[in-house]
Amino acid sequence: MTTRRQDCEALDRGDPLGGMRTRFHLPADLIYLDGNSLGPLPLAVLQRLEDVSRRQWGEDLIKSWNTHDWIGLPQSVGEKIAPLVGAAPGQVICTDSTSINLFKLVVTALKLNSGRRVVLSQADNFPTDLYIVQGLTDLLGAERCELRVVEESAVAQALDDSVALLLLTEVNFRTGARHDMASLTAAAHRAGALVLWDLSHSAGAVPVHLDACEVDFAVGCGYKFLNGGPGAPAYLYVASRHQEQAMQPLWGWMGHRQPFGFQGDYQAADGIGRFASGTPGILGLAALDAALDLWADVDVLQVRQKSVALGDLFHTLVGEYPALGVLRPAGPADADDRGSQIGFRHPEAYGIVQALIARGIVGDFREPDIVRFGLCPMFLRYVDVFDAVAALNEVVDRQAYLDASYRQRSRVT
Ligand SMILES: *Cc1c(COP(=O)(O)O)cnc(C)c1O
Repeated sequence: MTTRRQDCEALDRGDPLGGMRTRFHLPADLIYLDGNSLGPLPLAVLQRLEDVSRRQWGEDLIKSWNTHDWIGLPQSVGEKIAPLVGAAPGQVICTDSTSINLFKLVVTALKLNSGRRVVLSQADNFPTDLYIVQGLTDLLGAERCELRVVEESAVAQALDDSVALLLLTEVNFRTGARHDMASLTAAAHRAGALVLWDLSHSAGAVPVHLDACEVDFAVGCGYKFLNGGPGAPAYLYVASRHQEQAMQPLWGWMGHRQPFGFQGDYQAADGIGRFASGTPGILGLAALDAALDLWADVDVLQVRQKSVALGDLFHTLVGEYPALGVLRPAGPADADDRGSQIGFRHPEAYGIVQALIARGIVGDFREPDIVRFGLCPMFLRYVDVFDAVAALNEVVDRQAYLDASYRQRSRVT
C-alpha cells in the first residue's frame, strides 16, 4: 500500500466542503455510498417538516396556500434547481415524478415535431425512460410513436430524418458513464430532432449547462443528489423558446391559466406553469426546498472537483490491493467521462454488496454483476473511501460474500 489512511485524513483537513457533513443526519459508524440513490437527511429538512406540519398545516390550515405561498412552491423550488442545471429563470418547475414528467415531455416533443414519430434512445437507458415510450406506443399506435434503441456508442450515427426526439440520460445509472451533452444535442438538432435529457444522476453532482447546450427539454429526480427525501418531487425543464407552442397532455387545473376561475374549458397557463397538472404535494416540496438551501453555501464546481478526487482515490486504492485485481471497472476510468459514482463488475457482486452492508458500508448492487458506489461530496470524507476500499478488500480476499446469508434477495436491491 502506498496510500496511507493519514494521507486521507490530511485531504479531509484541507477539504473546502468538509464542514457540510455536519449539516446532515448520518448514522454513526456507517459509510454511506448510496447518496446517488437516496440522498441522506439534511438537518434543515427535519426542522422544515416540523414547521410545515405543526404550524403551517396544523395551525394556519388552508390559509397557508397564500400566507406561506404553498401555491408558489413548484415554481420557487424550480428556481432553486435552475442554477444547478444551467437554466435561466422561468424554465424549471418542480412537479410530479420523473416518470410522469417524461410522459408529459415526450408527448410534448412528439407534438412539436409532428412530422416524425421515432424516439431514439440507448439500450441501457434507465428502464422507466424506455417504458414510458413503450407505453406511449401502446396508447398512440406505432404510426405515431416508435421507440428505437441503439448501443451507447451508436447514438450519434442513428440520428436520421425519422427521429423526432433524442431521449438520453446524461449519466448512466449502472456504469456512471457520462454523455457529451453539448455535442449530442447539437447533432440531434442538425438532424432535425428535439432533445430530452434525464438529469437524475447529474443535478447536484456534475455541472449541467442546459441553456448553453441549447437543450430543448429535461427532467430529473429530487431524492438522489438533491437530498429531497424518499419519493421527493421531480422537476422538468422546458426551454423558453418552446414554451408558447409546447402543450403537455395532462391538462389538470394547476396548469390552467386561472385555476380558481373554475371555468369549464382548459386554457394553459403562460410559461412553465402549464407543465403542472394537479395539486402539489407540499410536504415533499417543502423538504426538497429546505434541502436545496444547502447549495447557497456550495458551488457545484467544488462539488465536482471533490467528486473527481474521491473517484480517483477509489480507483487508486483498488489498484493497490492485489486481491482486488479480480474486479473489473464497470465504467469509464477517465473522470471526464463519468458522473459521480463508480462501479465494479464481479460475478458475486450481490454477495459483495451484502457483505459490505453487514460491515457498515452501504453501496448497492445493479444487475447483472455490478457493485455500485455513489460518491456524494457534500458528506463523504476521503477516509470514508479509504475505509470502504479496505473493507472491500477484506470481503473479496476472504470470499466473505459466499456466506449464505448474503444471498437472500430483497425486493429493493
Ligand atoms: C432514479 C431515476 C428515475 C426515477 O424515476 P421516478 O419516476 O422518480 O421513479 C428516472 N430516471 C433515471 C435516469 C433515474 O436514475
